Amino acid sequence: MGKNLTIERLTNEAKFLVDDCLFLLSKDEGRMGTYVEKLKKLLDEVKADMPNPPSRNTGDVIGGIFSISIPNQVDVKNPTKAVNKGEHLKKGERLKSEREKAVKVRAKPMKVCGYCEEKTNEHTKTTCPKDPKARKKKKATPVIDV
Ligand SMILES: [Zn+2]
Repeated sequence: MGKNLTIERLTNEAKFLVDDCLFLLSKDEGRMGTYVEKLKKLLDEVKADMPNPPSRNTGDVIGGIFSISIPNQVDVKNPTKAVNKGEHLKKGERLKSEREKAVKVRAKPMKVCGYCEEKTNEHTKTTCPKDPKARKKKKATPVIDV
């Protein structure tokens, strides 16, 4: 377990290092080219050190990516934790606004409707949608005196 975590940490570090290099060299085509050549040499060295390199078919590559990113996915599902990627941030914002709505509705006290006896905070017996009289009274009373 500890070994996997170390590998994961190093993998993330490597990604950050490469990202930093790509960012710093993004306006320098010549040095970017040199950097890419260096990376290719590194890859050759890594391959040379492996007598039996793992197969590079799609399944293996995807499996490797998944095994590294699973902890992050768990974090993303948990709305209380911070999220790294913009995509997930958008999701988080949408979740938050839906929650805020729910909280707003819940903030009103729940009361049993005197007409339909439904426990709700959406209406009372004077505004019960199931009672045509109540609705009529509420709308009509201030205007029409019968
Ligand atoms: Zn009702």
